[in-house]
Amino acid sequence: MLKYLIIQLDDTSASFCHYPNKHQKSLIPLEVLKGGVVWALKENLMVQFVYPDYELPKDYLDVIDSIDHIDIAHDHMKADVSIFDGVHSLSTLKTSVFTHAILRITKNELFNNIVGVKEAFEKQTSLNIVITDIDTFNDTDFESYKKVLTELSSIVEKKIVSNKQVNINLLSDRLVLSSMNNCNAGVESITLAPDGNFYICPASYYCEEKCVGNPVNGLDIPNEQLYKLEYSPICRICDAFQCKRCVWLNKKTTGEVNTPGHEQCVVAHLERNASRALLERLIQSGKIKTDMTIPEIAYLDPFDEIKR
Ligand code: SF4
Repeated sequence: MLKYLIIQLDDTSASFCHYPNKHQKSLIPLEVLKGGVVWALKENLMVQFVYPDYELPKDYLDVIDSIDHIDIAHDHMKADVSIFDGVHSLSTLKTSVFTHAILRITKNELFNNIVGVKEAFEKQTSLNIVITDIDTFNDTDFESYKKVLTELSSIVEKKIVSNKQVNINLLSDRLVLSSMNNCNAGVESITLAPDGNFYICPASYYCEEKCVGNPVNGLDIPNEQLYKLEYSPICRICDAFQCKRCVWLNKKTTGEVNTPGHEQCVVAHLERNASRALLERLIQSGKIKTDMTIPEIAYLDPFDEIKR
């Protein structure tokens, strides 16, 4: 069931996921913005506005304030969800100013700046890390990622042991999930772009994929069932519950929205296994009491299991 309407206010709106945004400004027309807000009201959806880095005209802000919403932006003094592009941008991070932060980072930046990422956790208890080039991981990168997860695990463990709050999506999410909690673009959320059309997600818009309707004529997603977990033969047997199961990455790497690429699966399973090791250490040290178990498995890509 659809729950969220994401409204990209400009082509330069902050990216909050794997995709890159555009550099040329193109503000959503005011009438399109109004139409999107009315459609969201009719469909009973929570609106997530994604902001560019410049100040919007007052008439735009009035329309935005006419509906319950969530603000996603680089400006973490104003946003509900703040975006940080690269480790260097974390230096602007102020303690306790916001609750949700997303760090977008390339694999090499993550591998080479783990100290900077660790320092961020001294100021911020919750950080969602999005690796922007997952599709380029190779075997060497998988090994480097394993080491990064071990380092991050030690932070989570130390904080939990000292009764401090901490949330690193790559490790903490799997500790508390008992079923899939994926992005669900095309099922739970849809995006209204500055060109006045709906897209499965912002990435589909930026990559010039076909639109899936507009606020005037309504939503029209061809083969909409393919975006659902139950129509993904690999993902539906998987227990890397924290995986984004990014349908845009699926399409980019395998040509099919419901078939994940090897890289996305291995990355998610390295996280799952690191969460498993962390959970076992926490249980053994008596720091947490839980019935939760994450079973040991012998594969990193569920496709290998299906082939057997
Ligand atoms: S790890 Fe692979 S199979 Fe599992 S949910 Fe993610 S994309 Fe799907």
